[in-house]
Parts: sequence; structure tokens; C-alpha cells
Amino acid sequence: MAPLSDRVLMGPGPCNPYPEAVEALGLPMLGHLDPEFIAVLDETCERLRTVFGTRNALTLPISGTGSAGMEAVFVNVVEPGDVVVVGVNGVFGERMCDVAARCGADVVRVDTEWGQPVEPQRLLDAHPAPKIIAVVHAETSTGARSDIAPLGEGKADALLLVDCVTSLGGIEVDIDGWGVDLAYSGTQKCLGVAPGLAPITVSDRARERFVAKSRSWYLDLRMIGDYAGAAKGARKYHHTAPISMIRSLHAGLGAVLDEGLAPAIGRHTDCGRTLQDGLESMGLELIPPASHRLPQLTTVRIPDGVDDAGVRKQLLERHGIEIGGGLGPFAGNAWRIGCMGHTARPRNVTLILAALAEALGR
Ligand SMILES: *Cc1c(COP(=O)(O)O)cnc(C)c1O
Repeated sequence: MAPLSDRVLMGPGPCNPYPEAVEALGLPMLGHLDPEFIAVLDETCERLRTVFGTRNALTLPISGTGSAGMEAVFVNVVEPGDVVVVGVNGVFGERMCDVAARCGADVVRVDTEWGQPVEPQRLLDAHPAPKIIAVVHAETSTGARSDIAPLGEGKADALLLVDCVTSLGGIEVDIDGWGVDLAYSGTQKCLGVAPGLAPITVSDRARERFVAKSRSWYLDLRMIGDYAGAAKGARKYHHTAPISMIRSLHAGLGAVLDEGLAPAIGRHTDCGRTLQDGLESMGLELIPPASHRLPQLTTVRIPDGVDDAGVRKQLLERHGIEIGGGLGPFAGNAWRIGCMGHTARPRNVTLILAALAEALGR
């Protein structure tokens, strides 16, 4: 068995966190209203604005994983009877439908075959006047990227809500340039931090349409925004911030911005391309079309006669490499290989290609 400390996390998440993010978890505890902590929180929000590509004042890490971010954005803008158009091409579009329906939305689904991108025009044509158009940018269950900019151009009066959990930090995200009103992410994918926080960003246009009283107390952004975004000195206690996780996110974002956001994204692009070329030259088939394939999450069809669980077990036990199995229609017939955050390094690509070739006898 390869040692636990050496795990190479190439599943759909968590990835290996940046060393700076891991170190920050061990820093001494601060009070959640300590001026030192408030300064770290403010700078974390500013770093998030940079990676999201936004000037939105309401940009902050929600306490909870990516799904808490999803729930936070829906529960603050959806009232019973509101029409919400949702693009569904995998697990996370499906989850959006569930969350929106629990907020009382009249959900209009636009289903697309798994592995394919959601077509923007089909979303725009799905309803004449929806309150919200929602879509997943990078569908982690399939490895497909959907185009966001045409939705911002065509949204008219609707709010555009985008899941950036797997895209943020790994491929281009341009919240303001694309006209996105609400977006959320997670720390354990391409941001290279442990799971536990959900960065979100909300436009002023969306804030003006917040429901009067969110049905979630914990995720009420009117109350959380007062705390996290208030002018210095005006902060009110809402809930205790997860201090250590925020310091870790601060450090992880610091590592990304020290490298440079564009070079960090370039590293994901290069690793993904090398991995995908290598898999294809091994005779393996990649599922999403080349034009909309994510570099940070590669979905590959399991060849006939190959033992899915057996190969993954061998990779883990012999080499300490974790890859993901398939979900939904892909269960048992696809693998998902992540190359995110600190995991997106050439040596890990070389390692997985060699280990997979060995396991498959190719
Ligand atoms: C991982 C993921 C989520 C959910 O995040 P959790 O941290 O597991 O709650 C949502 N959307 C997408 C696209 C994801 O990849």
C-alpha cells in the first residue's frame, strides 16, 4: 500500500491542496471579530473577486461545501412560483433542479445528453420570461464545459445563475464580462484548498431582487452580507466564521495569485492536454466533444472487459493514485480523472498515464 501521506488525488475532488493552504490550517486560532482575522477575511474576499473576474461587493466564502453555495444563491432569489430555467447535462444540473424546486420554483428543465454541453439558445428559448436561468459551467459528472457568455447576452430581464464549482481557478471565469448575476464555487476543486467553503458572488442587480425573507436563516445573504461585507466597525455577529478554513482559502488563493491566475489556468490547460493526448494514444476514448472538453476533469470510457473497480483499486493500492468512477448513466463505464489545483502538475500526469498503461496492459 502506498503511504497515505503520498496520495495523488485525481478524482473529481478533493484535489491535493496547495502546501500553503495546508500550512495555514495549523496557524494559531484567532477570534472571529479579531481585527487580524477581519483583515484576512477582507483580503480573501478581494482575492475571490480577482479569480471570479468581478467587482461585485457581495463576494465572500459561505460556510459549507459547494452545495451550500448552490443553496445560498437559490434560496435568496427564488420565491414560490418563480420560473427557473435549468440546463441539465449531468448530476449538478439535476441537483440545481432539486434545490430550486425546494425553494418553490416552477422549474423548467432543459435536458441535454450527458457528456454534451448545454446549448445556450435552447436555454434562452425555454421560457419567454423566466426569473432565473441556471446552468453548470463545468459539469464534473461528465467533463463537459458549457458556454456562458451567450446566456449573459441573451438573458434579457432574467438573472443568470452559474455553478462555477469545478471551473473556478481551472479555466477562464469572467463573471462581470459574461453578465453572470449569481455564481458559487467550492474550495476543493481547482482552487486547491480542502473542502469546507463555498465562494459566492452576487451582482447588485441580483441583490435588488433578493426575496424579502429567505426561508433559510443560515444562508440568508442579507444577514451574512452585513457581517462579511459591512464597512469596518459595522460588522454584526451572524454565525462564527470557520476561521481556519478561511485562513486556508486566503493562503491557497495567495498561492494561485502569486503564480498568476493566467499561468495557473495555463498549467491546468497544459496538464489536461497532455493527459488527454496520452489517453487517446493508449487507444482510450474520451467522452465530451473536443471543443467542450474540460482540461481539469477528463472522462474516459472504460474499455470492454476491463474491471472498473479492480483497476481503480490497483491504482490506489500500488501507486496511491485516486481516480473517480462514473456517476448516473456513466456508472461502471467511465472513469473521471481530475487534474485540479496542486494536483495539476506534469509529474502527476506522467504518473497516471504510466500507472494506467500498466493496469490495462497497454
Ligand atoms: C463538487 C461539485 C458541487 C458540489 O460541491 P460539494 O462541495 O460536493 O458540496 C456542485 N457542482 C459541481 C459542478 C461540482 O463539481
